[in-house]
Amino acid sequence: MAREHIVIVEDEEDILELLRYHLAREGYSVTTAANGEQALKIIAQKIPALALLDLMLPGLNGLELCRSLKKDPRTAAIPIMMVTAKNEESDVVIGLELGADDYIMKPFSIKVLVARVHALLRRRKQAVVEMDDTIRIHDLVINPGRHEVLIKGKPVEMTFSELRIIHVLARRPGWVMTREQIVDAVRGEDYAVTDRAVDVQIVGLRKKLGSRAEYIETVRGVGYRFKE
Ligand code: CA
Repeated sequence: MAREHIVIVEDEEDILELLRYHLAREGYSVTTAANGEQALKIIAQKIPALALLDLMLPGLNGLELCRSLKKDPRTAAIPIMMVTAKNEESDVVIGLELGADDYIMKPFSIKVLVARVHALLRRRKQAVVEMDDTIRIHDLVINPGRHEVLIKGKPVEMTFSELRIIHVLARRPGWVMTREQIVDAVRGEDYAVTDRAVDVQIVGLRKKLGSRAEYIETVRGVGYRFKE
C-alpha cells in the first residue's frame, strides 16, 4: 500500500524536524515547507493526505494558506490540522470557520499529535465512504461524494465542514441535532470542539444557502434541524 503523504508547514526548524522525524517513523511520507508560498507550490504538485499548518508563519501565514487551500476545489478536501500558540485562540475559531479540521496547541505532546493525525486520516476515510449518498430536497441537491451542493442546478461553494453539517442535518429532516451530535458527525467522537465553532459554521452555511437559508432551523437551547 502506498504510504500516505503529509505536508508539514512550520518555520521553526527544531519543531519541523521533530514532526518530520516522528511522522516519518509512523510510516508516512513527509514533505516539509518553511513558509506558506513554498507550501502552496508543494501541495499543487502532489495533493497530500493531510496538511499540518503552523499558523504563525513569515509571509503568507497559516490562516491565509488555509483559506487558499479551501478555496481551490482541487485542494479543498485536504484535511488540515492547525498548530497554534496559546494566545491564538481567536485564530483557531477563524481557521475552523475557513474549514480546517482540527488543531493542536504548542507545546504539544508528540504522542498526542501523532494520535490525532491518525484519527483525522481515519475519520476522513470513513467520511469518504459515508458521503456517497446524494440527498434531494425540492430544488436543493447535496452530493457529498462529489463535494457538491446545488440550488436550482447552480453549484454553491462549501467548505468540507459546512457540507458535512448540511448533509448530516438533511439526512433526517425534522430531527433536532444538538451541537455535540453535529460535532460528532462532522469530526468524530474523539474531537473536543466548542459549540461556538458549530454556530460559526451554521452562520456561514446559511449565508451560502441564501434564499434557502430557512432550511436550517435553530431550535433554541437545543441545536439545529433541517426543515421538514
Ligand atoms: Ca511559527
